[in-house]
Amino acid sequence: MEIIGLFVGWFVFWFLVYLFFAILVGAYASKKRRSGVGWFFLSLLISPLITLIFLFILGPSHSSLKKCPRCAEEVNIDAQICRFCNFEFPQSNQFPKSDKKAGNVASTPISRVIAILIALSAFGFMVFIIYLFKK
Ligand SMILES: [Zn+2]
Repeated sequence: MEIIGLFVGWFVFWFLVYLFFAILVGAYASKKRRSGVGWFFLSLLISPLITLIFLFILGPSHSSLKKCPRCAEEVNIDAQICRFCNFEFPQSNQFPKSDKKAGNVASTPISRVIAILIALSAFGFMVFIIYLFKK
């Protein structure tokens, strides 16, 4: 019985570590304007390390780039200065305030799903601890 408890403990521990890295990959993906939830579940299915490598290879989503009007190179949509020719982008052209607000609303369910998953795993961990102390 002791060995089973130890095994479950290790399983729960590594599951939490795994979940943590999957969340990191999801956060990294949404930073690159890719689906945070999609990449999070993909990390859970495949493994955070492999999906992270995929993300590095794929780079930012195409919609995260804007074309510099001066040198026609593609730069990050959040950039204020072109990294190729130092062209200064007008502050408000690409991101009207309503767009940013819509993005925030859309990102709310992602954090909610992650919060629920963390809560569930924390609950599982607590049940395991109680189970250990009862013995
Ligand atoms: Zn430029």
